[in-house]
Amino acid sequence: MNSEMSGQPDALSPVQSGIREILGSANRPLMAVTPPTAYRNLARLVEHGLVHRIETLSAYVTCPRHHHGELAAFAICSGWDPVEELDDPGISRSLHAWSEARAFRLEGTGLDLNGLCAACSP
Ligand SMILES: [Zn+2]
Ligand SMILES: [Zn+2]
Repeated sequence: MNSEMSGQPDALSPVQSGIREILGSANRPLMAVTPPTAYRNLARLVEHGLVHRIETLSAYVTCPRHHHGELAAFAICSGWDPVEELDDPGISRSLHAWSEARAFRLEGTGLDLNGLCAACSP
């Protein structure tokens, strides 16, 4: 992981680090019932690739890796388990290649896969 080319955690303000810690300890996406100031800080964390926004849940999760300018894919269990981030840079690569080939401008940064995890399957 080439972390020197992108924003580092130490560039975060104490508030932003705090939010990151809260998200990390929550162990599941945090629904955005947060004040407007938190939104700004969350946006910054998203910019740094430390936190991802899951559009379909309107929630935020910490990134276990350091994701910067890449698409992130999430497996979202409808049984209400923690969201799992797919650790597969190939997904981001092929989607970027596809969108470049079609001159399709990607606006989202996440890919949400909905389903049922093994633990919740009947
Ligand atoms: Zn990530
Ligand atoms: Zn599940």
